[in-house]
Amino acid sequence: MIKKLLKRVFRRSAKAKTAGNAQIIPYALHNVPREQISYGAKRVTDGLQAAGFQAYVVGGAVRDLLLGKTPKDFDVATNATPEEVKRVFRRSRIIGRRFRLVHVMFGEELVEVSTFRRMIETEDAQTDEHGRLLRDNEFGDQEQDAARRDFTANALFYDPATQEIFDYHRGFADIRAGVLRIIGDPQVRYREDPVRMLRAVRLSAKLGIRLDAATAAPIATMKSLLDNVPEARMLDEVLKMLLSGHSVECIQELRKMQLHHGLLPLLDVIMEQPAGEKFITLALKNTDERMSQGKSVSPAFLFAALLWNEVLAAWNLLVAQGERPVGAMHTAMDEVLARQKKKLAIPHRHDAIMKEIWLLQQRFEQRSGQRPYRLLEQPRFRAAFDFLLLRCASNEVDNELGLWWDEFQDASDVRRQEMLQPEAAGGAKKRRRKPRKKTGQAS
Ligand code: ATP
Ligand code: MG
Repeated sequence: MIKKLLKRVFRRSAKAKTAGNAQIIPYALHNVPREQISYGAKRVTDGLQAAGFQAYVVGGAVRDLLLGKTPKDFDVATNATPEEVKRVFRRSRIIGRRFRLVHVMFGEELVEVSTFRRMIETEDAQTDEHGRLLRDNEFGDQEQDAARRDFTANALFYDPATQEIFDYHRGFADIRAGVLRIIGDPQVRYREDPVRMLRAVRLSAKLGIRLDAATAAPIATMKSLLDNVPEARMLDEVLKMLLSGHSVECIQELRKMQLHHGLLPLLDVIMEQPAGEKFITLALKNTDERMSQGKSVSPAFLFAALLWNEVLAAWNLLVAQGERPVGAMHTAMDEVLARQKKKLAIPHRHDAIMKEIWLLQQRFEQRSGQRPYRLLEQPRFRAAFDFLLLRCASNEVDNELGLWWDEFQDASDVRRQEMLQPEAAGGAKKRRRKPRKKTGQAS
């Protein structure tokens, strides 16, 4: 009782101090205990501080903890140079060329340590002809490091030793108010790095906080700047959206802001077809659900889902022109992948898995003789089956097929025999004995 009372009185009198341009938010105001900092991040800040450096947990982790969410990972910012960081921790290595960072390993955990950086003044900043920042990797101090970050909520520094938060841009107040606000002039910041427009959409959807009006306003007129962003970086960001655990909200926001056109050519094509849209939305929902259950999600599965309707359309056309189903599928897959490669740089390494998932779809139709048994043994069966369920749920194929396979997988030998469908009349059995083509030919 007394404790509670003391706590209340203490909390009421707790105030942020200021130090230079920073507000220092004490524990009594923010209530994030150091126990919520990961083991590795705590060891890194302790180690650096013991060696005489400043070190703070920074960025997304502080923001997530303040919002009561579990951070994906913990980053540390310090005034030590990468070489100095490396000297403090035996199990660490310097990575990156443009931004040199240090990865420090503690068992399974990897902590990313970055040296405070500053934004280069406009006169000597190197920008491309669209104003995009090409160099922002000069070392700086904590205040400069805060200023080069994107959103006020992402620019908070937490010191596990004192449990204080250093706040230069009123990020704490913004988080409390549920607002995502860009630091500085929105137009200037989007010109420096257009990807920030996408980050604004992704973070507000993922965190369930609203985008400040002035932060959102210029996006409509500035979105064409995204055309100049290198493809690989675009794909990175799109993947982050799709795998954010809130992909459905992200896509909804993108559409609301008219940002999905050109950005995701594969969505452009598909979302305009009612059948395709249902399938995509289901695939995204399914991904979000898996994420919330802590299950793995493969980008290849997602890409396979996003492109499925295109494959199907190409395949239907070829079959109508008289090609045989399996051959037509190979041609359709290659056509669609080649077309998408030009627009969105889906890395080649996903091709093999995507093709396997697609190819196995036809084999679900075959439910007689030994074929279902052989399909079960395919290493990609599970993914292909999940894919089939999406097709059922979107009414592309009859639910009965999904249910049949659901039962067949776990059924007893006797029950499986009962379930098998009669062989088609004619020499089906003999044909099957012919040497089969290798299934791995897809890649
Ligand atoms: P997530 O939860 O998705 O990891 P995050 O905010 O941690 O979100 P990261 O990409 O991990 O995102 O970036 C870490 C930090 O680096 C951010 O919190 C932000 O302070 C800064 N940052 C990242 N991208 C940019 C950018 N394009 N411009 C300015 N600052 C950025
Ligand atoms: Mg992060």
